Amino acid sequence: MKGGKLIVFSAPSGSGKTTIVRHLLAQEPLNLAFSVSVTSRAPRGDEKDGEDYYFISTEEFKKHIRNNDFLEWEEVYRDNFYGTLHSEVNRLWDEGKNVIFDIDVVGGLRIKKKYPEKTLSVFVEPPSVDELKIRLKNRKTESDEKIDMRIAKASIEMATAPQFDHIIVNDNLEKALEEAEDLVAGFISEETHSEEE
Ligand code: 5GP
Repeated sequence: MKGGKLIVFSAPSGSGKTTIVRHLLAQEPLNLAFSVSVTSRAPRGDEKDGEDYYFISTEEFKKHIRNNDFLEWEEVYRDNFYGTLHSEVNRLWDEGKNVIFDIDVVGGLRIKKKYPEKTLSVFVEPPSVDELKIRLKNRKTESDEKIDMRIAKASIEMATAPQFDHIIVNDNLEKALEEAEDLVAGFISEETHSEEE
């Protein structure tokens, strides 16, 4: 069976997981590459197509669902679809990389279930829902209505934390980055038994 390891980082929006994932990607010995997801939501801020996401229409997204192109997909927020294409993971595996994912809790657990041996699933926990609200407001990229939608979902997502291999509490970013690096380095150096899809 081909392919490197799969490293899943899941967390409520605003918990700092993207910062952690970016930090890990910069550590060359980890040999990580980012799985670029497909989404039907509009680009935010200076997000780039093909780097942050592949931005497509809802129609195109539904066509991918019908064609069984997804390893996993979710309607994370109402009318906002997100998914990981098989072709994306295969592309990165063909490059000899370990693949890192920044995806929602349901998608993250789905990948872990599909590849239990080769996946490390990590939940990044914000110090509190109040702190999350402050971070999302400071980010100033979304309307109050959208922020409220993300906060409502965060409480539900927090309840899934015990199902992950590890929980990193992000109350001190420097500590969280160090913990993530140690965790991923340890997992990547472990042998895995082969797993067929
Ligand atoms: P955002 O709109 O803030 O970029 O992402 C919203 C949520 O969707 C985040 O929790 C993000 O990690 C998640 N997400 C991004 N890509 C995927 C994906 O391919 N699959 C799933 N299930 N969730 C994703």
